Amino acid sequence: MTLCINPQCPRPQNSKNILFCQACGSELLLEGRYRVTRQLGAGVLLRHLKLTTATLSKS
Ligand SMILES: [Zn+2]
Repeated sequence: MTLCINPQCPRPQNSKNILFCQACGSELLLEGRYRVTRQLGAGVLLRHLKLTTATLSKS
C-alpha cells in the first residue's frame, strides 16, 4: 500500500504500483524516489523535504 502525501486527501490509501493518487491526483513518489508506505514515514519525509527546501532557498 502507498499513502498519499496530501493531508487533505479524502482517500489516501492507494495500491503500491501506481504513481498518482487515485482520489486527488497527487504524485505518490516524493521527488520521484520516495514512496510513502506508513503515515509516520510521510510526516518524517515531509519534514525532511521542507528542511531541504528551506536550506536550498537560503543559499
Ligand atoms: Zn490523494
